[in-house]
Amino acid sequence: MKKHAIAIHGGAGTILRTLMTPEKEAQYKQGLQNALLVGNEILSRGGSSLDAVEAAVMSLENFPLFNAGKGAVFTNKGTHEMDASIMEGKNLEAGAVSGVSNLQNPVHLAKVIMQKSGHVFLQGADAELFAKKMNLPFQENDYFYTEERYKQWQDVKDTEGYQLDHTVLETGEKKFGTVGAVALDVFGNLAAATSTGGMTNKRFGRVGDSPVIGAGTYANNHTCAISCTGHGEYFLRAVVAYDISCLMEYKGYTLNQACNFVIKDKLVKMGGEGGLIGIDTHGNIELCFNSEGMYRGILRQDEEMYLGIYE
Ligand code: ASP
Repeated sequence: MKKHAIAIHGGAGTILRTLMTPEKEAQYKQGLQNALLVGNEILSRGGSSLDAVEAAVMSLENFPLFNAGKGAVFTNKGTHEMDASIMEGKNLEAGAVSGVSNLQNPVHLAKVIMQKSGHVFLQGADAELFAKKMNLPFQENDYFYTEERYKQWQDVKDTEGYQLDHTVLETGEKKFGTVGAVALDVFGNLAAATSTGGMTNKRFGRVGDSPVIGAGTYANNHTCAISCTGHGEYFLRAVVAYDISCLMEYKGYTLNQACNFVIKDKLVKMGGEGGLIGIDTHGNIELCFNSEGMYRGILRQDEEMYLGIYE
């Protein structure tokens, strides 16, 4: 039996201590803690890493401060279009969805796609039809509304630009609020999941790295499980999650070496900002980012919880 462990993130970016209020910080930490406890509970009763990452990400999706599920950013049309993915390391099974609206928990849909659709990646209105057929919960538009995201969208909505999830004007904070989880269960199986609202004011059906298996999410019991957050266009081009796995599989890198090389060297040279969480089958965990902060946490069997925000 392995010692189980779970790690989560709630997005990376310019998160400055000087601009955070103690109340806000406590709220973020509460959101992270809830997610870790939910995932840990599943792992500690012998549940699978797949169920643990799904439950942890659902908890983060239900928490409005993160850019996923409730609290997802606005598109150029004033809608919320969400992306999510999930992967199981033992058999390389994966499920992913992009551009869905009104779905309460996109990561749950990703798992149902993996288990019941016979496909890996569904998108848009037809993915919503599949979710309805599977009786997954939907919510009205106002469920996804948050004042902060609305203001972010108002600032850019009449421009051609899109914006990463940040609040520079109001708080000076710039972050990517995507959420994700990676876990190792007592059977030695790895899993990863990621969920996001994408970028504020995104247009033309823009899809980032989060739902793309190999870019934003990857899991393989021979190497690692990875969930990314950051400027999706760069993470897509660098195929970040799979690149980490490949460096371990083909070059014999440790998880630490692979994460540092890809996030702190390769991506930096490309100009890509962000980070990732990773775990291997020995229970080694990396929380690696090239931005100023990343909402993050770890909970290992029989150990104290770790929560971090800043560098
Ligand atoms: N990676 C996400 C995207 O580009 C954004 C984020 O991490 O917040 O859609």
